[in-house]
Amino acid sequence: MDKMEDLARRDLAHIWHPCSQMKDYETLRPIVVDHAEGPYLYAADGTKYLDIISSWWCNLLGHCNPKINAAIKKQLDELEHVIFVNFTHEPAIKLCEELAQVLPPGLTKFNFADNGSASVEIALKIAFQYQLQTGHGEKQRFMCLSEGYHGETIGALSVGSMDLFAQMYKPMMMNNIHVQAPDCYRCPFNKNREHCQCECFKFAEEAFAQHARETAAIIVEPIVQGCAGMRIYPPLYLKKLRALCDAYGVLLIADEIATGFGRTGKMFACQHAGVTPDIMCISKALTGGYLPMSIVCTTDKIYDAFYDDYNKGKAFMHSHTYAGNPIGCAAALAVLQIMKEENILANAAVKAKYFNAALNEAFGQHKNIGEIRHIGLINAMELVTDKNKKTGFDGQLRIGYEIYKKALTHGLLLRPLGNVIYFNPPLNIADEDLAKAVALAKQSVDEILG
Ligand code: PMP
Repeated sequence: MDKMEDLARRDLAHIWHPCSQMKDYETLRPIVVDHAEGPYLYAADGTKYLDIISSWWCNLLGHCNPKINAAIKKQLDELEHVIFVNFTHEPAIKLCEELAQVLPPGLTKFNFADNGSASVEIALKIAFQYQLQTGHGEKQRFMCLSEGYHGETIGALSVGSMDLFAQMYKPMMMNNIHVQAPDCYRCPFNKNREHCQCECFKFAEEAFAQHARETAAIIVEPIVQGCAGMRIYPPLYLKKLRALCDAYGVLLIADEIATGFGRTGKMFACQHAGVTPDIMCISKALTGGYLPMSIVCTTDKIYDAFYDDYNKGKAFMHSHTYAGNPIGCAAALAVLQIMKEENILANAAVKAKYFNAALNEAFGQHKNIGEIRHIGLINAMELVTDKNKKTGFDGQLRIGYEIYKKALTHGLLLRPLGNVIYFNPPLNIADEDLAKAVALAKQSVDEILG
């Protein structure tokens, strides 16, 4: 038996992989990755895969980036981990100083955790406790957008609206208020995202008029609803939401776990709207996709509401063992330094234009590609049976999955989100690799859809 199959069999004897039907692995064997470099994964059988989704949107600057590797190796010999209550270390301190420079202005206080969902839980708890400690104990609920996704722990699932992940667990979940999200491809007002006044914001206004009194915070994925199929909405919506939150004393939580660190062309998606949320969650690309780390960023105003004598019971009594992990901080500091030194944002903007033009040329006329939407280097193609009617592949919901499997046979790792296939490459990917991704995607789509 070859090495790949041997390891695959041993994997399946014990490992329960995330977010998959394990039976599917009978036909699609787990791909054993041996090593990686830049945007490429190298499997144990020698096959090379172009990782055009940044390994779940986190690998920001290529696999095994020499500068990040060096920063981690250096940190490893100095301090690997330390309790973060009463103790601290320079990498965490420096990281917060640097983040405060690049985040939307006013986000100055940072609470660490170790994954995106955990940071969402923290954000919800901070918002709830803030309202309680500032005389608004009646504000106990949360609002969120339909089709939103914020992770899969129970609190995070409760503020998500993706039935695929949440439906079964509804009896366990909080009773939140789900506001109809913008849907620019199938706009209920027949507008388009370049020329609308966010008429759909009326759904938020109605929800606030009815529920703001009992609402602690609203959580949104700013500008791009990732798991919904990279649904992109105008910055104006966020601007209006900021104003509405202020008017009603509802906190605005921005989940920038997927959109942060240049993915949308700006350092953070909120910056497209010039908006500072009250609380922002960051993770994924924070460490360049190297180490599990997340941070909840907030304002002095929120922080101050927790600051008092211990016996007043106002402290935020929440902890994660790996909070502030120094190796994660060293990786994150290296990411910020590379972004500056290598002018990553400006270069990625040029690549983004090139990539979107190439996708439009290859797929623009395809009978089953309803929309190619993009922001920054994120591109998503919505698969439809009829371009005019915008009808999805209902009943064949796994069309994206079929294309994903086909692409793997051609050495391309792209991912489906239902009827959408998407690209979310590292920001420093070479143009020739973008061109290769387009060609391999075209070949895969044509082989499945003709
Ligand atoms: N929020 C958003 C917007 C995400 O995209 C994700 C992960 N895909 C999460 C939260 C959850 O992060 P994690 O998987 O690290 O728990």
